[in-house]
Amino acid sequence: MVQINEVKDSNSAQSTRTAAHTHIKGLGLDEHGHANPIDSGFVGQTEAREGAGVIVDLIKAKKMSGKAILLAGGPATGKTAIALAISQELGPKVPFVPIVGSELYSVEVKKTEALMENFRRSIGLRIKETKEVYEGEVTELTPEEAENPLGGYGKTISHVIVGLKSAKGTKTLRLDPSIYESIQKEKVTVGDVIYIESNTGSVKRVGRSDAYATEFDLEAEEYVPLPKGDVHKKKEIVQDITLHDLDVANAKPQGGQDVLSMMGQLMKPRKTEITEKLRTEVNKVVQKYIDQGIAELIPGVLFIDEVNMLDIEIFTYLNRALEASIAPIVVLASNRGLTTVRGTEDIVSPHGIPADLLDRLLIIRTLPYSVDEIKVIIEKRSRVEKLAITAEALSLLAQQGSETSLRYALQLLTPAGVLCRALGRNEVTVEDIEESRDLFLDAKRSTAVLEQAKGYL
Ligand code: ATP
Repeated sequence: MVQINEVKDSNSAQSTRTAAHTHIKGLGLDEHGHANPIDSGFVGQTEAREGAGVIVDLIKAKKMSGKAILLAGGPATGKTAIALAISQELGPKVPFVPIVGSELYSVEVKKTEALMENFRRSIGLRIKETKEVYEGEVTELTPEEAENPLGGYGKTISHVIVGLKSAKGTKTLRLDPSIYESIQKEKVTVGDVIYIESNTGSVKRVGRSDAYATEFDLEAEEYVPLPKGDVHKKKEIVQDITLHDLDVANAKPQGGQDVLSMMGQLMKPRKTEITEKLRTEVNKVVQKYIDQGIAELIPGVLFIDEVNMLDIEIFTYLNRALEASIAPIVVLASNRGLTTVRGTEDIVSPHGIPADLLDRLLIIRTLPYSVDEIKVIIEKRSRVEKLAITAEALSLLAQQGSETSLRYALQLLTPAGVLCRALGRNEVTVEDIEESRDLFLDAKRSTAVLEQAKGYL
């Protein structure tokens, strides 16, 4: 049976990838769809942002099905940033999944399977339920309890004690350790109001806000039941998950009972098998929840950088997947011109994309930045990274950026900050930038070094 409760957020990898874009807060367009030169963290690239704005309108009007977007432009011209901004413009908690074409190839997972997994990561599901919850305030434990807040047998912790105060007085609840972990994760402390979902008197789930921990069962005798007739509230619980989270939660561990496959499971404890059949089952349940008005699909953005790395087989699959009734918005990015389609001998095509997919694309180009634009972008990033920088150092970095790339200039910023702090200063100076530049080469210089070295070999 498909379950929605045991779902954990699997998006931490994504958030590390978007770390370089935390200053981006949207496309920065006015009500007529014009891009303000500097807005929402964006600087310049106005035509592309306006084009992306039109696409957001098309998506909202449901006119993008079967189509995809291609952002074409040089390295570090803001393609990822624009794709992220599109997802932000679509609403809060809309999934944004950035991948690089080459990531789809691995020995363990079939490439089309890897693509499907990312498709499902990019489709959100918002579940709204109204539940009876018990509201209480976390209290101090009694001295005895505080001394030994963990209970259980031997090394197995079966419960954790938490003090709770409600309108009817103070109660000590014994909670499952997994729930306690979630309380700790949410940094719940004494004085915080938390909500406990009660089910026939026993504690079912606990959370400070709308984020609920995993479901578990408590045996009524062992655990203090919630006081009857105490403050119960009806509360709307909103949970945002992705279809991939649901697939994982419902996948069965691989292998059989023989020793070899059990060893396999030990070594790869988190490996699960998600089959097409399972996905179909998950889809059915999701559809049921949608029909009942409990759940709503939130199609997000799947961003595939270096699209020329995809091969003809993946393109064929992608074409079909775009046609599916549940599909995310697919944004491809390329900094290549005419190139051979991977997996073919001689089909040369723009961006290495086959003609039938090219036909479905709305193409937006991104242009190189001027020194002044680079300067403002670096300034914004330095503010996010809480680095003070002198005007001269900023100019030098911007100059450097226009000669190499914006990304290189942004990358020099962090080590320059480290160097400056190591010297006890709190403002990045020209010297820090120069030292950082000497330590870390850009692509051109690193190639030159190797070319030169060849002479000595
Ligand atoms: P590539 O395809 O080569 O990986 P890209 O075109 O996707 O690069 P981004 O990763 O979006 O480029 O940009 C590099 C960095 O510069 C990111 O930190 C991004 O947020 C920032 N950036 C790019 N363009 C802008 C802009 N117009 N305004 C503000 N920040 C920008």
